[in-house]
Amino acid sequence: MVACPAPAAALRGCDVPVQRVEASAFTVPTDTPEGDGTLAWDSTTLVLVEATGGGRSGIGWTYGPAACVAVVRDRLGPVVAGRSALDVQGSYHAMVPALRNDGRPGIAALALSAVDTALWDLKARLLELPLHRLLGSVRDTVPVYGSGGFTTYTDQQLVDQLESWRDVGVPRVKIKVGESHGTRTGRDTARVRLARSTIGPGAELYVDANGGFTAAQAIAWWHQVAEHGVSWFEEPVSSDDLAGLRRVRDAVGADVTAGEYGYDLTYFARMLDAGAVDCLQVDVTRCGGITEWLRVTAVAAAHHIDVSGHCAPHLHVGVAAATPNLRHLEWFHDHVRIERLFFEGAEAEPTDGVLRPCEGPGNGLRVRPRAVEPYRVR
Ligand SMILES: [Mg+2]
Repeated sequence: MVACPAPAAALRGCDVPVQRVEASAFTVPTDTPEGDGTLAWDSTTLVLVEATGGGRSGIGWTYGPAACVAVVRDRLGPVVAGRSALDVQGSYHAMVPALRNDGRPGIAALALSAVDTALWDLKARLLELPLHRLLGSVRDTVPVYGSGGFTTYTDQQLVDQLESWRDVGVPRVKIKVGESHGTRTGRDTARVRLARSTIGPGAELYVDANGGFTAAQAIAWWHQVAEHGVSWFEEPVSSDDLAGLRRVRDAVGADVTAGEYGYDLTYFARMLDAGAVDCLQVDVTRCGGITEWLRVTAVAAAHHIDVSGHCAPHLHVGVAAATPNLRHLEWFHDHVRIERLFFEGAEAEPTDGVLRPCEGPGNGLRVRPRAVEPYRVR
């Protein structure tokens, strides 16, 4: 490591106020219809937040309705403006009470997450540090798993996607099951068989039912596919059914996982206290941003449980590199495509199943204004 002069020495002994927090929304059609066990969609909306101060700009985002823009503009932006850009946790703990009467889970938490991630990026850029160094890196590389395998895909589309990950050395992949709320288990089984034959015996094979099964159904179906070496069973039942998750966990040989709908620390603590998961999924674009991610992953560590980052891989990679109990990140087809389109610095494929956090200031990404503009909805 090269010793460098202290960055941004001019910041010592002074403060930098956040000047502006702005939000905008962009809706991008999917490349082909996408669906899982309990939902189908043909477009995805990214809500982008830019926080400026001290002559720098930080970016963060979430995936959610354009209504998040109003929460940022009308509720959170005014709370953060004028606060220290160096004290992100201070801003976070000022924003949370401001959302009390709006209801934090859902749209408010998505907006909160986008602002928090933008503020961390701004701070890192002000200090001229890569985000993972600001947070305290614990690893040089971050493992990923390929994720897509939508129930709406034809067999050929599924094979093509799995081969695309296999060909760049991603050694673990996930497909959607629980099709049509668990009413097409025969097709689920056939797709698992096809996936295993495509990736070969050495790669890890994960499935995600998005809550499409009952507990009894999930257990029975898992025994049908056990011979294909499924090692990760995500949301076999609704994430709200903690007893059901625990029941499946006790009955199957795969890791049972959930957590993608966690919007605050208490949600994750309840899930862990219930013994509902073998690996806790956390989404930095939903849980409350990097500030809450750090607290959630610490609570998981206290339960001796690994965490896995859900979706939005380029917003996760910096904090993932600073998370001791990280298992991996989700290299989610839909978000990889959008992040490559929208951000300079998001072009790289994983190499041998890992990403490397950016060594430039902040998250290392820059918005491509001309690329995003055609998709603007707010
Ligand atoms: Mg999922």
